[in-house]
Amino acid sequence: MRYNLLQPGGPLVSVIGFGASALGNVFGDIPLSEGERAVHLAIDEGINFFDTSPYYGLTLSEQRLGAALEGRRDRVVLATKCGRYGVSAFNFSAKAVTQGFEESLRRLRTDYVDLLQVHDCEFGTVEQIVEETLPALVELRTAGKARLIGITGYQLENLRTIARQAAERGIRLDSVLSYCRYNLANTTMERELRPFAQAEGLGLISASPLHMGLLTKTGAPAWHPATSEARAACVRAAEYCTAQGVSIEELALRFCLDYPHVATTLVGMGTPEIVRANLRVLADKGNTQLAHEVMEILRAGGAETLWPSGLKQNWDPGTPNSEA
Ligand code: NAD
Repeated sequence: MRYNLLQPGGPLVSVIGFGASALGNVFGDIPLSEGERAVHLAIDEGINFFDTSPYYGLTLSEQRLGAALEGRRDRVVLATKCGRYGVSAFNFSAKAVTQGFEESLRRLRTDYVDLLQVHDCEFGTVEQIVEETLPALVELRTAGKARLIGITGYQLENLRTIARQAAERGIRLDSVLSYCRYNLANTTMERELRPFAQAEGLGLISASPLHMGLLTKTGAPAWHPATSEARAACVRAAEYCTAQGVSIEELALRFCLDYPHVATTLVGMGTPEIVRANLRVLADKGNTQLAHEVMEILRAGGAETLWPSGLKQNWDPGTPNSEA
């Protein structure tokens, strides 16, 4: 395993991070023992960064991860989130995130997390997140209950605005996480978030190297926000890889692992089989030529198109208006 500093000053995190949303059964049901074995195998193989949220499986992911980490807590860098509690259930008030975090700690069977993040900031107002949510997280950091604090979301300009305004108010953030913004379908993180994060000394976390399941042979669940055109392009890309004797999952993850500017890439893993497949990718040389061909199939099919997420005032420029 290779490790990077999560942010200047540490801690060290594995380049492959364990995305625990899958333990909340969001990509399909995972038997209890399979999920637990996935966590144990990942730890034994050197994966030390684990990311969850009360939102994933409506607390199921945190419960299962907490149980699986019993006796192993000191071997992992544990991240969870606050502010999002359901598909449409958001509460970024100081009271909700502070009380919600205490419940997360109980489910995770620990008295601190290494990283506490505001989940999907674009669903709140910049004003509330900067003036109310983040000060509450600073208190939790000062109390030692969250070693580091960060923000997450899909809309990159919104994340930059929040981080900038927070800094103006003297709030030091530790990390920023975005998803589906650096993979074979879309690489806008490189232009729209990486230079900012680097300049501000923020740890950069990239999530969803498989575009939340679209860059797999089985495809994504019905809740995936991509357009039908983008979905069809991903199916064509997967078929093209299969015809070349390559697994699109492994090609897609390799592409992300070759990106040197992020501390870690979070991939959803719920079974030992998937953990093993993703560990194999670390040792793999990759196939740059094929990656470029697949990116072209995806680009021509419109797979890089952004989707609306959150309050409209927080959408990135160029987001198609689904209501139009
Ligand atoms: P992903 O791109 O990692 O795709 C996950 C899907 O791909 C799952 O169905 C998984 O079973 C499958 N998969 C993974 N490796 C595979 C392999 N080798 N072969 C076949 N299938 C494979 O998307 P994700 O799970 O949404 O993202 C990873 C993690 O990032 C999440 O679990 C979560 O921790 C984090 N995340 C955070 C946010 C946020 O904070 N707003 C948003 C998205 C994701």
